[in-house]
Amino acid sequence: MEMEFSPEELAFQQEVRTFIAENYPAQLRGKQDEGDELSKEDFLAWHKVLYEKGWIAPAWPVEYGGTGWTPTQRFIFSEETARAECVKLMPFGLTMVGPVIYTFGTPEQKARFLPRILSGEDWWCQGYSEPGAGSDLASLRTAAVREGDEYIVNGQKTWTTLAQHADWGFFLVRTNKDAKPQEGISFLLIDMKTPGITVRPIITLGGEHEVNEVFLENVRVPADQLVYEENKGWTCAKFLLAHERTGIAGVASSKRGLEKVKEIARTEVDGDKPLLSNAFFKRKVAELEIDLTALEFTELRGLAGPNANKGPGPESSLLKIKGSEIQQRLTELTLEAVGHYGAPYFRGFDEGDNAHPIGPDYAHRAAPTYFNMRKTTIYGGSNEIQRGIIAKMVLGL
Ligand SMILES: Cc1cc2nc3c(=O)[nH]c(=O)nc-3n(C[C@H](O)[C@H](O)[C@H](O)COP(=O)(O)OP(=O)(O)OC[C@H]3O[C@@H](n4cnc5c(N)ncnc54)[C@H](O)[C@@H]3O)c2cc1C
Repeated sequence: MEMEFSPEELAFQQEVRTFIAENYPAQLRGKQDEGDELSKEDFLAWHKVLYEKGWIAPAWPVEYGGTGWTPTQRFIFSEETARAECVKLMPFGLTMVGPVIYTFGTPEQKARFLPRILSGEDWWCQGYSEPGAGSDLASLRTAAVREGDEYIVNGQKTWTTLAQHADWGFFLVRTNKDAKPQEGISFLLIDMKTPGITVRPIITLGGEHEVNEVFLENVRVPADQLVYEENKGWTCAKFLLAHERTGIAGVASSKRGLEKVKEIARTEVDGDKPLLSNAFFKRKVAELEIDLTALEFTELRGLAGPNANKGPGPESSLLKIKGSEIQQRLTELTLEAVGHYGAPYFRGFDEGDNAHPIGPDYAHRAAPTYFNMRKTTIYGGSNEIQRGIIAKMVLGL
């Protein structure tokens, strides 16, 4: 397998690096360096820069606004944005509903929704999970009943990420109670300002408002916002979940995270020596680095292999499991490295405290990030579910 970039790819890497250096919003960099919470406008600031450059949706077909890059160029781009610690783009429009719409949508739906996803005018959220339907998603009960040119939707969704900012949501709803569970589901696009929708925050362990409950009471949705066919929504749902899992490995940002852990452990001391020279700590860092390198090679093998252009398959479950475990181990090591400096910054303890921060800057986000990243082995299909997929689809058990 060829592991070196070609001269053209190296030139592309330099082009991306220069673009980021010259165009990444300075105010955003400042907030990130300070460890401040980012607003909707912050996330959209970088989105807009990439949109204006034409680089906002590298994986989309060119006819809908994609860049036409090779898989390796896309890999280089994600490596460079992670290396420069650019803020992550919201996936709900770009990686989730966008591909569903250009694959299954009508020409009118494509014309109406895709340009606004690209420009960042519409912020999307994902209404799949319900209190009784997470891993067993097909048991969802939110119901949509057709009345003339509208669907009337009633039910509840949960864990809906950043729904408080969303203009639109894509929802899985039950349109046939009598069919087999997977055969009675439809995929609806719903304007989040429609009367009858209530978004209620769920505050997570790290004290953040990232997820929500969404209640739908007699919400009237125009029937032309149904994607694909009534009762065929499961096809869209499965297609979208495979897309959700690609890029979930987060190799590039974990590489940057590992460098940061090493920097911290060179600064923090254990007795009179840098923490990084402590044999136990060093071993954990080395094990993580080996696992991360193995994951990177697995991802590259996918890029270079015979299935490179076929889109995500069940192998993406493997990347999701290892990638999420590594992300969690990184936050554990960071918290261990900052030691007691991490504790005061766990906002769950002392909401409203205005005491002057103590300890080094890099300690401020260690605890909230540690708690926040527990989610990675749950969302996008829990790691237990991914293991089931590998057993069945990859190993044929
Ligand atoms: C931070 C965060 C953000 C999220 N954002 C969204 C969002 O924006 N939109 C959305 O729709 N959903 C979202 N989710 C929901 C997520 O998809 C679900 O939490 C996930 O699918 C698991 O479902 P559950 O929480 O109902 O757990 P359950 O399905 O009840 O699972 C509980 C436990 O049992 C295990 N388990 C269940 N079934 C099996 C099985 N067959 N074999 C082995 N083990 C099993 C699970 O692995 C888990 O450990 C988010 C979740 C989190 C944590």
